[in-house]
Amino acid sequence: MNSNMKLQYKEEKPFQPVAQSQYPQPKLLEQSPTELLTLTPWLAPIVSEGTFDPELLRHMYQPLNLTIGLTVFAVGRYTCFLQHFLESAEQFFMHGYRVHYYIFTDDPAAVPRVPLGAGRHLSVIPIQKHARWEEISTRRMETISQHIARRAHREVDYLFCLDVDMVFRNPWGPETLGDLVAAIHPGYYAVSRRHFPYERRPVSAAFVADGEGDFYYGGAVFGGRVARVYEFARGCHMGILADKANGIMAAWQEESHLNRRFISHKPSKVLSPEYLWDDKKPQPPSLKLIRFSTLDKDSDWLRS
Ligand code: UDP
Ligand code: MN
Repeated sequence: MNSNMKLQYKEEKPFQPVAQSQYPQPKLLEQSPTELLTLTPWLAPIVSEGTFDPELLRHMYQPLNLTIGLTVFAVGRYTCFLQHFLESAEQFFMHGYRVHYYIFTDDPAAVPRVPLGAGRHLSVIPIQKHARWEEISTRRMETISQHIARRAHREVDYLFCLDVDMVFRNPWGPETLGDLVAAIHPGYYAVSRRHFPYERRPVSAAFVADGEGDFYYGGAVFGGRVARVYEFARGCHMGILADKANGIMAAWQEESHLNRRFISHKPSKVLSPEYLWDDKKPQPPSLKLIRFSTLDKDSDWLRS
C-alpha cells in the first residue's frame, strides 16, 4: 500500500443548533463562593485566573504567528473613550501577538494617534452616524459581518468584538482564543436564569422561554475564529432584521439577540467575568483579577 495515499475521511458533521431541551442551569459559583466553575455542561472551558498556564500557552501560540483582530465602534461622543481603550489594549491585549484594530467611527479625525507596538496595526473605517443610540448598537452585527466578508477574513485568524466604553487592567492573552467565544455578564453570574433579562416576548426573534438559558452573556464581548464570528454576527443580524420588520426592538437590543443565539449555538469557550467586569461593582472574592472593565459613564450625555 502506498504510504502517501490520501485518506478519504468521512465528512465532518457540523453541530446542529440545539433544539429546546430541559436541563439544569449551570452555575458559575456552584461549588463555593470563591471557586468558579471551570467547564460548562457542554464541555467548553470557562476561563479564569488559575485555570491555565500562561507560559505554556505562550509557547504553544506564539509560533503560530496568529493575527488577532479587534473591532470597536466609536460613534458620536463615544470617540472620547478611544484613547484610554487603545492605550490599555496596547499594554494588555494579546501582548506579543500581531493585532489589527478596526475602529468604526463617524469621525475619523477624532481617532487619537496612540503609539502602537511592533506587529500591531490600526485601521479606521468610516461609518455613518445613526440618530438613535439604539440604532447604533443594533447596526454593529451587520457592520461586523460585512467587514469580515469584505476584508477581515483575509487579514485575521481570530476576531474579538468589544465595546469601547471599557479599559484593560490586566493581561488578556491566548487563553481567550477559541472557535466561538462568549463572556459572562458581570451583572448576572450569580442569578437564576428565570431572572436573566432575556427578551421574553414570543413575537421577537430573540425570545427565550422560561427554563432555557445557560449563562447571561454580555453584548460587550464576543469573538472567535473569524469564520465563526461571521456566521454568528450574521445570525444575530438576521434576528434583528426580523424584529425590525415586525416593528419590535428586543429588550437589550443586540445583546438579546446574542444571548438567544448562544443558546442554540453554544460557545466553545466561555470567559469568566474577569474579562467583562463593571467599575461600578466592587471586586468579589471569586474574581482574582479584573482584566477588562466598563468605565462608569454619563450615558445621558454620551447618547444625547
Ligand atoms: N456606541 C457608540 N456610540 C453611541 C452608542 C454606542 O459608539 O452613541 C457603541 C460603543 O462602542 C459602545 C457600544 O456601542 O461601547 C454599546 O453601547 P453602550 O456601551 O452605551 O451600551 P452599554 O454597554 O451601556 O449597554
Ligand atoms: Mn458598553
